[in-house]
Amino acid sequence: MKNKIVIIGGGISGLSLAYHLESMKAQDYVLLEAHDKAGGLCGSYNINGFTFDYGGHLLHLSSKYALKLIQKLLNKNVAIHKRKAFVYIYGKELPFPFQNNLYGLDDNIISECVKTALTAYKDKSTQNITLFKNWAAALYGEGICKHFMFPYNQKLWQTDLNEMTCAWCGEFIPKTTLEDIIKGAYSRRKKDFGYNAHFFYPKTGGCGALCEQLLKKTRNIKYNCEVTEINLKEKTVKINGADIFYDSLVSTMPLKNLGKITTGLTASIKKDFKDLKHNSVYALNIGVSAKTKDAHWYYFPEEKYPFYRVGIQSAFSASLTPENCSSFYIEFAAPAGKKPDFNKLEEQTLKYLLELGFIKEDIKILVKNWVEIPVAYVIYDTKYENARSNIIDYLKNNNIYTLGRYGSWEYSFMEKSLLDGAALAEKLIRK
Ligand SMILES: Cc1cc2nc3c(=O)[nH]c(=O)nc-3n(C[C@H](O)[C@H](O)[C@H](O)COP(=O)(O)OP(=O)(O)OC[C@H]3O[C@@H](n4cnc5c(N)ncnc54)[C@H](O)[C@@H]3O)c2cc1C
Repeated sequence: MKNKIVIIGGGISGLSLAYHLESMKAQDYVLLEAHDKAGGLCGSYNINGFTFDYGGHLLHLSSKYALKLIQKLLNKNVAIHKRKAFVYIYGKELPFPFQNNLYGLDDNIISECVKTALTAYKDKSTQNITLFKNWAAALYGEGICKHFMFPYNQKLWQTDLNEMTCAWCGEFIPKTTLEDIIKGAYSRRKKDFGYNAHFFYPKTGGCGALCEQLLKKTRNIKYNCEVTEINLKEKTVKINGADIFYDSLVSTMPLKNLGKITTGLTASIKKDFKDLKHNSVYALNIGVSAKTKDAHWYYFPEEKYPFYRVGIQSAFSASLTPENCSSFYIEFAAPAGKKPDFNKLEEQTLKYLLELGFIKEDIKILVKNWVEIPVAYVIYDTKYENARSNIIDYLKNNNIYTLGRYGSWEYSFMEKSLLDGAALAEKLIRK
């Protein structure tokens, strides 16, 4: 079998590429999906009337094209929300982001944060800084780093923060100014900060409703087709024992995994693959028989809480639960592939949800389900940049294009998948 374009993976990236190829009337492609349904991490699933996502999945849109595309695909089935997110720390709920909302903390902590921010702004600039810890200390000061930036990021990344660079920070950590730190330390702010101050979310169907619309335009998708081998020399991929030839191969599967199934790699590229690192995330989705707090999500920097984030799925749309119920996603991170003890985490989590007032003694847990994301966040350490760019260039020279957060091995998001899928479709058509 031969197809001009073979796409690995029917998540939002592969679907966006297929959608845009179809829009350009290019049908000589096939999309191979390992599972029996499309959507990947941006899919949703339903259990007993509760719709869950794979961890919190909200649409943050900054490009006009992506906004237009979402409106076209979801039509009236989308709502815009103003973020209601908090940091839970030292027994207090502070609005997110921490650095601009210190008001409410104990006086001595506020003084420490403000004093060290003043020193940071006097002494340092973030220009030419490459390491994450230095970057954060120069931008926020030692106090904000000590109380939030370092413990929270340690919990999320599960790696030695001293090895991490700040290459990923630009978009994902709300920047600040000394003025905003000080104003937020002595009064409650109303100003919005950060890329996720507003977000879009489907009114029904969960995040997966978007992929379902993309899927409607994707004719050549084949399910239960896990690519188990890529042969660079023969330009073939193997699925269920059969070879498929390609002119161009597009991979959205995790780049690290692609390295493991590709034959014909040079020794130096094999070494680069070894340098790619990532963490794993496990999300506990639960549905309960009562309403809960009026908020979207909470960050937990303190070590005593095993989770780094608790989201209230039912706050994104009332359609996601049966009447008078609510649902949560509780996210835990672990070093790559290190599966935690789910029973122990459940026990601790329910105790803390009760203690924190998310649930009450008399509610019933109606649904409980674990989501496993073995490759969740790619780690930007000092080897990342070099290894990633060597691999991507090498693959491109072999007619293999990488796409998406995992295919391209980057800290990215749904909007970028949509846009990169569109751009790659155009490139492949012109080839
Ligand atoms: C905890 C968490 C929260 C997130 N929250 C947000 C958010 O709020 N907003 C946002 O915009 N983004 C968010 N993201 C990022 C978002 O999930 C990704 O950007 C998006 O899922 C990338 O889509 P993808 O299609 O590239 O990859 P995936 O969704 O991973 O899809 C890849 C597909 O490839 C298939 N596949 C893998 N290997 C093979 C193989 N060998 N053969 C065939 N098929 C294969 C998989 O089954 C899967 O369907 C979050 C990510 C995580 C981990």
